[in-house]
Amino acid sequence: MRIIFLGPPGAGKGTQAKLIVKDFHIRQLSTGDLLRENRRQETELGKEAQGFMDAGNLVPDDVILRMVAEEFRKPELDPGYILDGFPRTCPQADGLDQILKDSAIKLDHVLVLEVPDSELVRRLTARRSCPKCGHIYNLVFNPPEQEGICDYDGSELIHRSDDTEATVKNRLEVYQKQTLPLIEHYNKQGLIRHIDGMGNVQDIYQRIKAALT
Ligand code: AMP
Repeated sequence: MRIIFLGPPGAGKGTQAKLIVKDFHIRQLSTGDLLRENRRQETELGKEAQGFMDAGNLVPDDVILRMVAEEFRKPELDPGYILDGFPRTCPQADGLDQILKDSAIKLDHVLVLEVPDSELVRRLTARRSCPKCGHIYNLVFNPPEQEGICDYDGSELIHRSDDTEATVKNRLEVYQKQTLPLIEHYNKQGLIRHIDGMGNVQDIYQRIKAALT
């Protein structure tokens, strides 16, 4: 199964993608995670992306498309994947269409996780994540057992540098302007499935599962 996951930052794409990956035995490909890994390892790509990310702006399309094309060459993605945070602009969607066309592969679904803006700001500013296993916590409704420590591997949790209130507002605007038009792009292909992203993690996941089966 090949899925694209659309939705504003903080909608819960990362959390839900991890559940889908387990259930459907496919891979998660998160461009945000790939970029953060490049930054940690201080690669050229990481250095190039840094300023855009910290301001809550998008990294240029050519950088993203190069990075993604490289990932698609890996056999790990053969059983299927969920694209989390990609594509985010029309040129990226066109680039992806081309990559898929070249390998005669079709997408199965495009999920759009919907959450009101006021709730997104609340979620994002309280978000913490484990730099080691990637588990995502929320200080308000899903805190770790011990403050600041990952329940699974004991690592110190981090607050992403782009999860501050000012940056979050910019990221939401960027989503509205640059990513929302993709719904029309994929609507034309008959792939869009709208999912209500409010409620608890399991309830939302059941809605996703119903849309995928
Ligand atoms: P995310 O973890 O998906 O919220 O992404 C964090 C940041 O990485 C975004 O605010 C962008 O600066 C950058 N980023 C991630 N994916 C993309 C993409 N597909 N296109 C451009 N920038 C991206």
